Amino acid sequence: MLNIQSKLPGVGTTIFSVMSKLAAEHKAINLSQGFPDYPSDPKLTELVHKAMKDGFNQYAPMPGNILLKETITQKVHNMYGISYNPDTEVTVTAGGTQAIFTALATIINPGDEVIIFEPAYDCYAPTIRLFGGLVKTYELTPPAYGIDWDMVKKLFTANTRMIILNSPQNPSGSILSDEDMQALIKLVSGTDILILSDEVYEHLIYDGQQHKSVMLYPELRERSFIVASFGKLLHATGWKLGYCLAPEKLTKEFRKVHQFNVFSVNSPMQQAIAEYLQDPENYTGITSFFEEKRNYFRGLLAASRFELLPCHGSYFQSASYAHFSDEKDTDFSIRLIKEFGVATIPVSAFYQKSTDHKIIRFCFAKENSTLLQAAEKLKNV
Ligand code: PMP
Ligand code: GLN
Repeated sequence: MLNIQSKLPGVGTTIFSVMSKLAAEHKAINLSQGFPDYPSDPKLTELVHKAMKDGFNQYAPMPGNILLKETITQKVHNMYGISYNPDTEVTVTAGGTQAIFTALATIINPGDEVIIFEPAYDCYAPTIRLFGGLVKTYELTPPAYGIDWDMVKKLFTANTRMIILNSPQNPSGSILSDEDMQALIKLVSGTDILILSDEVYEHLIYDGQQHKSVMLYPELRERSFIVASFGKLLHATGWKLGYCLAPEKLTKEFRKVHQFNVFSVNSPMQQAIAEYLQDPENYTGITSFFEEKRNYFRGLLAASRFELLPCHGSYFQSASYAHFSDEKDTDFSIRLIKEFGVATIPVSAFYQKSTDHKIIRFCFAKENSTLLQAAEKLKNV
């Protein structure tokens, strides 16, 4: 018998695949995995055809299409007033996931400790472990999911190598404030601790709040890998394109791994996205688009027994059912699919200890008709 030593014992199939599969099997409305159910802009798909016809069919440059990198730095400058160098500080990746994987592969050595805030997106912890890193977890609690930075400090040891941030946060929709950033600066100043800032929901921030990117703070920017995803920006999660911004010193190391991890990513789509983003009108409406969806969905669910948690950003709305059921959230979400025809994500999946606050996550990046249909079903719960 072949003896294979698993590098990730205890890791099963990601919750997003599990719930989407169950949704399909039971023909339930799928508000579980985060993806839109409406098409992306036909202008964008036309540009992909055009790029293919224009001959963008061979390897793109290793760090990314030149026009796309320039367009990214221009967009970043327009949004935040910060200049990144397109040649030396931007790398186009196969989605946010590959950027996260590559940044961790670049930095983490066996024994290095990485601080994460849970509930956390599910790829962080396994990837840290894959490279021999140790996950130091700070569990946040609903409904605010706020961070007490004195508690973070207590997690620091001589081996602390990195802190992973995610604002707006998946799944809680919480956001980091300027005060959070100031507290973080105090903690990391004078140390060699690096930051991986997962900002894939940077545009999805509501109620007039401004996204506090780590790039706005020089003490943080100099030590940060910032991860972004075109999947969210362009309503095209299946294209799996994103990028990583980091100062030259970090980018140089990042690219050493990137070149052997994937070398370069989808060429015609990079060219198409670069051309599409020349017109800022193609993305500036995204915040209000999703804010309206959030408001619409919250309005619909007000008539249900679910207790809605705050949602300041992302395309996820969390809800508690603790006051009417003490079922485990995993059991509850399976019953929701089978008996009521709506698929969600149990939030315990975002905690390594499967901490169960009896909260489920809905994705509202859906047609209003889908949200309405789902809400009609959820009112019966
Ligand atoms: N980070 C977070 C917080 C996410 O929710 C996701 C997925 N939507 C990603 C990273 C990965 O992004 P991508 O689909 O571009 O790989
Ligand atoms: N980020 C999406 C979510 O949180 C899904 C990503 C995935 O399926 N891997 O639902």
